Amino acid sequence: MATPISEAEVRQLVSQVLNRMQTGPAVSWDSTQYDGRKLIGIFEDMNEAIEAANTGYRAVRAMSVEQREKIITEIRRLTREEAPIMAELGVKETGMGKVEHKRLKHLLVANKTPGTEDIVSQAKTGDDGLTLVEMAPFGVVGAITPSTNPSETVICNSIGMIAAGNGVVFNPHPNAIATSNYAVDLVNRASKTAGGPEILVCSMKKPTMDSAAIMQSHPLIRLLVCTGGPGVVRAVLSSGKKAIGAGAGNPPVIVDDTADIAKAGKDIIDGCTFDNNLPCIAEKEVFAFRNIADELISVMQRNGAYKITAEQADQLAEIVLDKKTDKNGKVKRVVNRDCVGRDAAVLLAKIGVQVSNDIRCIICETDANHLFVQEELMMPILPIVRVDNIDQAIELAVKAEHGNRHTAHMHSKNIDNLSRFAKAVETTIFVKNAPSYAGIGFGGEGHATFTIAGPTGEGITSARSFTRQRRCVMADSFRII
Ligand code: NAD
Repeated sequence: MATPISEAEVRQLVSQVLNRMQTGPAVSWDSTQYDGRKLIGIFEDMNEAIEAANTGYRAVRAMSVEQREKIITEIRRLTREEAPIMAELGVKETGMGKVEHKRLKHLLVANKTPGTEDIVSQAKTGDDGLTLVEMAPFGVVGAITPSTNPSETVICNSIGMIAAGNGVVFNPHPNAIATSNYAVDLVNRASKTAGGPEILVCSMKKPTMDSAAIMQSHPLIRLLVCTGGPGVVRAVLSSGKKAIGAGAGNPPVIVDDTADIAKAGKDIIDGCTFDNNLPCIAEKEVFAFRNIADELISVMQRNGAYKITAEQADQLAEIVLDKKTDKNGKVKRVVNRDCVGRDAAVLLAKIGVQVSNDIRCIICETDANHLFVQEELMMPILPIVRVDNIDQAIELAVKAEHGNRHTAHMHSKNIDNLSRFAKAVETTIFVKNAPSYAGIGFGGEGHATFTIAGPTGEGITSARSFTRQRRCVMADSFRII
């Protein structure tokens, strides 16, 4: 007779299967076709891709603004229609994130990325005549995109860059190349349907550091736009070309004792777990006033958070953060790519904790120096640090943000506290009393972007960020008054 399988063994098996499902696929992805359909605009050679993007640019230059807008309208339509395909492909290819959340991210891009209306000319008149300032395209833009929001970034960048009159060549993240190239093809299909060129934007079959280097030094590339971690932002900023750098964040959240704690706890978990914490704006660590911390934690627990002990937090930190020795012999911690964007249940299983699918976030109490507070994890793990007062909260939160000047959040009804933190942290995005995604137009006012350029100052990028100003002066005449 077969030995009955114990409950513990069943749990272990389930956890192994879950782990396998979430560790990314073992298959290699064909980045040149989808479901038997050849993707348009995908090249083996970066030089050829740039030449093709330059042809696309010349076609856009010859178009009226109305024609450009027609293409953008079609990109929006196809993005809405094919959001479920890209969401599923993104999760399957990278093993990261949540299909439903990725679908919503695509809808956000389709609905709230500004188009040609963002390009506004200025006129100055006076005793000396009329001066006109117009927002001109750069030419061909070289764009580097991340694995965390792959197709979202390709489509968002394409809408803005085409609206501004540019051509675009992408060097997407290799781990998300099939998803990114699906989006490149979508833009090209939209162009063709709307009467534009067949190849408007281009990408690589197999992007590498070498293809990125060619892009960075090619004379036809007039602007580099890089969305990714600190390494790639440093690389493009030292390229000698005009570059827009959208780099890493580590957004802190402060919760003081005037906040609506029931709302704050839910908002923080909603924001932190959106697409399993992949958005760079998502809540990464909490500084909670001591007198409301217990209540905040229990609200979080009622909203899908599972609290682990300090020992378990240390154990998990050893798994989700690898040790890497740099060239000076210093040991650094780097995120374990197999843990980024994974479900809370999968991460908990790694330390032998089995939970139901209702659990969407792992919370723990730590001190401010803990690795979970200081490192940008991009996974649904949220450390909570108790603080005595607003001075201490601001000091620790500013330190944890590491001068990225990216994003910070606060839950409070005290306008002095809110203003003090906003001033001290100097971030591009500061969200008050809402989940982090309100900062990119999801449940908050304002347009959407997936390229938040803190280091170079363009901020919440849109079409106008990808333009250069040109002035035309008519001296002594052309006034009508
Ligand atoms: P990543 O830094 O690993 O890769 C980003 C892109 O840069 C990829 O296409 C990669 O191939 C390329 N790359 C890396 N090093 C390079 C180099 N030296 N030269 C040329 N290309 C290079 O990023 P990821 O893991 O895909 O994304 C996560 C990171 O990106 C996080 O740090 C996150 O905060 C940041 N991010 C920022 C924004 C923003 O808007 N500020 C948006 C999304 C992601």
